[in-house]
Amino acid sequence: LSLETLPIPDGLRDQYYAAGIRSLYPPQITCVDEGLFLGRNLIISIPTASGKTLVAEMAMHHHIASGGKCLYVVPLKALASEKYDDFSGKGVKIGIATGDFDRKDELLGRSDIIVATSEKVDSLLRNRTGWISSITLLVIDEMHLIGDEGRGATLEMVIATMRNRNQNLQVIGLSATIGNPKELAGWLSAGLVQSDWRPVDLREGVYYKGSIRFDGSKREVASLKKDADTNLCLDTIQEGGQALVFVSSRRNAEGAAKRIASALGLEEPALNRIADQILENDESGVAQALALCIKKGAAFHHAGLSRDARKLVEEGFRKGTIRVIASTPTLAAGLNLPARRVIINSLHRFVPGEGQVAIPVREYRQMAGRAGRPGLDPYGEAVLIGKSESAVKELFREFICAPAEEIDSQCAKKSVLLSRILALVASNEATDNDAILSFFSGSFYAFRHRNLSYLTRICTRVTRELEEMGMVVDLGSRIEATVFGELTSKLYLDPRSSVMIQTAFHERETVTPFGILHLLCATPDMFRLFLRSADEELIEHVIEEQGEEILIGEGEHLFSWLGYDDFYQAIKTAIVLQDWIGEVSVEMIAERYSIGPGDIHGLVDGIGWLVHGARELCRREMPAHLQIIADLELRIRHGVKEELLPLIRLRGIGRVRARSLFNSGYTTPGEIRDAGVEKIARIVGQKTAESIIQEIQNKEIGKRSGNQSGNLESGEK
Ligand code: ADP
Repeated sequence: LSLETLPIPDGLRDQYYAAGIRSLYPPQITCVDEGLFLGRNLIISIPTASGKTLVAEMAMHHHIASGGKCLYVVPLKALASEKYDDFSGKGVKIGIATGDFDRKDELLGRSDIIVATSEKVDSLLRNRTGWISSITLLVIDEMHLIGDEGRGATLEMVIATMRNRNQNLQVIGLSATIGNPKELAGWLSAGLVQSDWRPVDLREGVYYKGSIRFDGSKREVASLKKDADTNLCLDTIQEGGQALVFVSSRRNAEGAAKRIASALGLEEPALNRIADQILENDESGVAQALALCIKKGAAFHHAGLSRDARKLVEEGFRKGTIRVIASTPTLAAGLNLPARRVIINSLHRFVPGEGQVAIPVREYRQMAGRAGRPGLDPYGEAVLIGKSESAVKELFREFICAPAEEIDSQCAKKSVLLSRILALVASNEATDNDAILSFFSGSFYAFRHRNLSYLTRICTRVTRELEEMGMVVDLGSRIEATVFGELTSKLYLDPRSSVMIQTAFHERETVTPFGILHLLCATPDMFRLFLRSADEELIEHVIEEQGEEILIGEGEHLFSWLGYDDFYQAIKTAIVLQDWIGEVSVEMIAERYSIGPGDIHGLVDGIGWLVHGARELCRREMPAHLQIIADLELRIRHGVKEELLPLIRLRGIGRVRARSLFNSGYTTPGEIRDAGVEKIARIVGQKTAESIIQEIQNKEIGKRSGNQSGNLESGEK
């Protein structure tokens, strides 16, 4: 099918031609035949890199050309920016929404395509953001994730709510291979496009005793008497390919990269340049180890790396400079980073409480699917590693030839329903028991399970529990959200988190930053650092020194959902954050707690919106604690001690500059103004000096004329 016949704008077509896209791939043709341009819902379940994004993009431009608006939902923030870049520069306005959860983001409504995470869309729906109702096309990337235990329910509910509010909405779901795509399509009354077609051939096999066994054939690998994965990497590189090695943990990723790097032993200026760039802004131990590997041609990739380091590794690999990446499976979950050979070292994963468990076939497929770069590799190879004849057979049976698992709805759980029912009531989406049930009858859960009696029972119980929490009142004919409930829903807090914050603050006259951090780290909304046996001493020490500051009891009766583990993990997590606002360097924190810079940023991000939520709760409910929590919010955002607060509020002044000014004796805006541009410029540069002094003067004029902007805790920049 040539592009000429498709109902897409000429500009887009020209861009495709310029990118070498002349005709559609076979599964893309099926999408058109199934009603892509006729407004029909579609589930597209085809392998990675076979052109799903392009199909969605064409549909989006088709909608926009006739005055429509599109929402593209992704599972991760990092993917949002990748898609934003993909869609940009093609003649339509793109917006990106991943940030603060209680904002309406009305301005985003000016965009034609809005790329957002499912959590962000969920919060926009709760806040009744206006433009959401003008969305005509909803694209769900990685739709199979509705089966994900952690976040699947949010995605399912976003789809259900959007459809509930707009009957004419077109929904396009992009999914990896799953066992029950027909069911997913049935739920949305959608056409199903299912295919194994790939732009590059994929061979899947198992390496054992010096050769790769494929189904019916065998390929010798030059024996280099090294580990299996090193052999496989060297073999592929010798014939001009690159390799991705998937391992089960960060430590293994680093270990594999080191081994492979020393076997490669490359020496190239381009590799040295990447290594130098890695060390430019990051001197943590993990960055140093990475730079050493990269110099010899291999890298590792995991969530502990800083964002910059990850980007450099990805770029270096895409350009072909870095030959091998050893990675945890998270890399397979989103990034478009294919290689000729994918080596899967371990098909097990450590699950706390369960030990080593086999990964789902779906995840295996996702990793294997990264093999083969379209247009560059003649084929792609996914290679598992067998330890014996019988293990080889087992790997074929359990993974290569196995069908993908079915996905199931995650929404019929108490923890999910608490937030969900509150959201329905607070946004007036459903205001009595019948309406609540009627909403859930449009869920994937209802479609798959048919029988709603279990859901009916648990919904009634959850509504009662919300009433006990003070979130809703049941007036008989009508269920209404209380002010507290409405606020909780808008702030995107788990009702249990809100109750914890409210209870803890009400019971205390004074609270400290550490106490607040611990409280927030103990809520169900925060992810916590695991405890290692070496942490015991640390925890004991903190309890001795700062135990008084802790606001909540050790879990026995106060909050039924708070376990001992959560309590102690929250202590460790809070100490890390306490270091952050104590201006301990990222390198030092990473070293102290054996975590990566990426983890620290993840924690700061996670606690950031919780502190913000707590501040808003305090503003309405417990104003006595407002100032301390507002200060904490600012300190978390910038990672500074309290003494830097007056300086950090100035535009263009961050953690480092504020510290330099303070240490040079300029501790308040007044002192900076008195010093004058010349002196301040020596510390922060001419431009910043001019602008901050101007800002300080403007604020003073504002104050004198009684036109004080903001309120007491104003810290917005
Ligand atoms: P997916 O979303 O399934 O991973 P993409 O849509 O991102 O796949 O496509 C992968 C790559 O293939 C992109 O670089 C894209 O430009 C290219 N591509 C997609 N469709 C075609 C086509 N019909 N002809 C040539 N290249 C294509």
